[in-house]
Amino acid sequence: MFISKLQLHLFPENPETTLPQNELINALASMAFMGDAENKADHQGKRFLTGEKFLSHLCFLGCSPDIEFLPNSEDPDSPYIYIEIPETHPIPQFTSGVNVKAPRCSECKKELTGLATFLKEADSICKPDKAHCQHCNSVLAMDRLNWRRTAYSSRTRIIIHNIYESEAVPDDLLLDQLYKLTQSKWKYAFIRIT
Ligand SMILES: [Zn+2]
Repeated sequence: MFISKLQLHLFPENPETTLPQNELINALASMAFMGDAENKADHQGKRFLTGEKFLSHLCFLGCSPDIEFLPNSEDPDSPYIYIEIPETHPIPQFTSGVNVKAPRCSECKKELTGLATFLKEADSICKPDKAHCQHCNSVLAMDRLNWRRTAYSSRTRIIIHNIYESEAVPDDLLLDQLYKLTQSKWKYAFIRIT
C-alpha cells in the first residue's frame, strides 16, 4: 500500500476545537470531496479515496500537475492522492515535519530554533502555552507564533496525502463548510514526513 510522505493538513485555528471523526467523514463525503473508504485502515486513522468533487474544492497552483487518484493495482507503491481522517485526539497535538520553518521572535525577529523538536517531545499532557526566545529572553504566546504553514496544534484534522508543498490549497467553499461544522476558522499546513 502506498504511504505518502507529502501531506496537506487542514485543521481548526483554535487548537481546542473538536469534531467527532464520523461527523467529519460524513460531511466530507456528502460534499463528494471524499469518496469510498479504502479497504485497509492504517494505524493513524481512516483512509479514503478522493471524491467526484475533490478538484472543485482543492485548487492546484501553477502548471497542470500530473495527478493520480487511484491506486495502481500492478504497482502498490505507485503514488496517488488519498485522504485520511485521524481520530479526534483528547488534547491538541503539535504536528510538524522535516520541512518545519522555525517561527520568528516577535521582539528580536530571530528564529526560535529547536522549539518544534521540543514541542513534539514535550509531555503530551503538559504542553506549554508560552515560549521563551533563546536570543532575547522574551516570553511569547505559543498560539501567536507563525510557523509559516509548516506546523500547528489541533485535536481534529484532515490529511490529504501526496500533495507537494504549496502545490494545492483548499478553496473558500470547503473552508466555509468546515467553519459551519465547527464554528472555528480552518487553516492549512504542508507537512513532509521524511
Ligand atoms: Zn527574541
